[in-house]
Amino acid sequence: MSINGKVALVTGGSRGIGRAVALRLARDGVKVAINYKSNAEAAQWVVDAVTEMGGEAMAVSADVSKSERVEAMVKQVADSWGSIDILVNNAGIIHDGLLMRMTEEVWDEVINTNLKGTYNCTKAVLKFMVRKRWGRIINVVSVVGLEGNPGQSNYAASKAGVIAFSRSIAKEVAGRNITVNSVAPGYIATEIVADLSPEFKELIFSRIPQNRFGTVDDVANMVGYLASEEANYITGEVIRVDGGIEL
Ligand code: NDP
Repeated sequence: MSINGKVALVTGGSRGIGRAVALRLARDGVKVAINYKSNAEAAQWVVDAVTEMGGEAMAVSADVSKSERVEAMVKQVADSWGSIDILVNNAGIIHDGLLMRMTEEVWDEVINTNLKGTYNCTKAVLKFMVRKRWGRIINVVSVVGLEGNPGQSNYAASKAGVIAFSRSIAKEVAGRNITVNSVAPGYIATEIVADLSPEFKELIFSRIPQNRFGTVDDVANMVGYLASEEANYITGEVIRVDGGIEL
């Protein structure tokens, strides 16, 4: 039993963690649709890398916060490959600031991308999984969604929302052989953390027993495992990939 030949949609699959997830699934023989919002060149890079490995990939653009765009994207993938078996809700943004100064626009931007985007994609894809009585939904959240973090109330709320959403959907679809889990990374070395000051990086390292940022592959390996047949009996879980961090 393997997931070879299955079809995955990875949101935000063009960069960072999503790119590593797309490459990992492709290595497992999965056909991968790589969603992106605006950077077509980055998405094409991933498609080319998968093709060079002998796999199949396509780049699909859609702002996940827009339901009509998500519906059209899901139709495009299903029309080409017949179904979607694995959904990785990875697309996410941060827009940090203390609550006293946080505008409604900034709040909505983060909630709409991270939380509503997860709702839009999950709803659009679920019918294919229900029909096939097999599916894997993996949501990339954050330890911040479990513990909170000053300056990140919008981001923390969006990720905590995804965790509660994930646990609820896991119960709704468990009888259809569909698992729904969340992976909660700590600090991972991507563009999202590249701009942190050296002082702030030192402060973060002091809270991470492994004394380093995680790699995108640390997260992709867990997503790959949850997508596999071996993870058949794991659902409604949140698995931390964080080097032991205490926020
Ligand atoms: P990056 O900023 O490196 O990449 C973000 C990806 O999401 C890009 O592919 C981007 O596409 C896409 N994206 C952004 N907004 C949208 C949108 N509205 N619709 C569709 N795609 C969109 O992010 P990371 O790899 O660092 O983060 C990935 C996930 O992991 C996020 O959910 C993040 O919250 C989570 N995470 C990251 C951590 C870290 O330390 N890096 C820690 C904990 C969680 P494009 O370039 O076209 O805009």
